[in-house]
Amino acid sequence: MVIDRDNTIWPAGHRAALIVSVDVDGPYGEANHHGADDFYWRSQTEYDLNAGVWRLLDLFGDRDLAATFCWVGRCVEDRPDAVLRAQEDGHENAIHSWDHRYYTPMTFDEQRADAEKTIDVIEKTTGVRPTGHKTPAWRYNDETARVLQSLGLSWQMDIARQDLPWVERPDPSGNPLVQLPPSRFYDDYTFFVDQTVNPRNTAEFWHDDLDIIRAEGKLMCLTLHPWVTGRPGPSTAISNLLDYAIGLGDIWIARADHVARWWLDSQGE
Ligand SMILES: [Zn+2]
Repeated sequence: MVIDRDNTIWPAGHRAALIVSVDVDGPYGEANHHGADDFYWRSQTEYDLNAGVWRLLDLFGDRDLAATFCWVGRCVEDRPDAVLRAQEDGHENAIHSWDHRYYTPMTFDEQRADAEKTIDVIEKTTGVRPTGHKTPAWRYNDETARVLQSLGLSWQMDIARQDLPWVERPDPSGNPLVQLPPSRFYDDYTFFVDQTVNPRNTAEFWHDDLDIIRAEGKLMCLTLHPWVTGRPGPSTAISNLLDYAIGLGDIWIARADHVARWWLDSQGE
């Protein structure tokens, strides 16, 4: 593998960047597909706030790293203690809609009201106004970026188009919005919900991703769900990857807001 040693995109001493984002859907995510009265899925996803999120918080704390939590607003209402613990541990708290309804069929005003309500509950709980957004199941539409711009947010993580961030300004008079690219291949659902893969094989898959991202000097945005990788076995896939990334010594493991800020500065925005 050829390493480009002249790469200077990321902060000094770092060859590549890794964002660990955690989508806290609670019992509202899968309820979109299966109905709120499907007690099988409800109980599976109730693991999110009762157990999984706490295991992930411990796992990150053991490694002294900062992650980005994307909260469904109703989860913040249900368990403010979880959001406050993330805040106290130095993590970023961003928004992931009010109740996990997809944004694709929503108008500008409907999306704006939904996002604003979610921003407000996080700000009321933590005292800090969120600056980033991830749409439920990455089902945004052409209005979404403009909605986020109108709310003064600085980043969105929905579009898997490439391996580096980019800046959008759909309203030319508005603030710049940094697009941070996720991927279904960096999403725990692909490995542990759509099918069940051995956590060791999952870690190996992600190691290979990170090796290429590092060689090319790019960005990897992981998407985790506490009811999935917060479970004991699957949690070893993420702890294994994080230990590998830390061991490399030159991966910038950073919150999404910090990466967005860095990207804007590096672009002269
Ligand atoms: Zn979600």
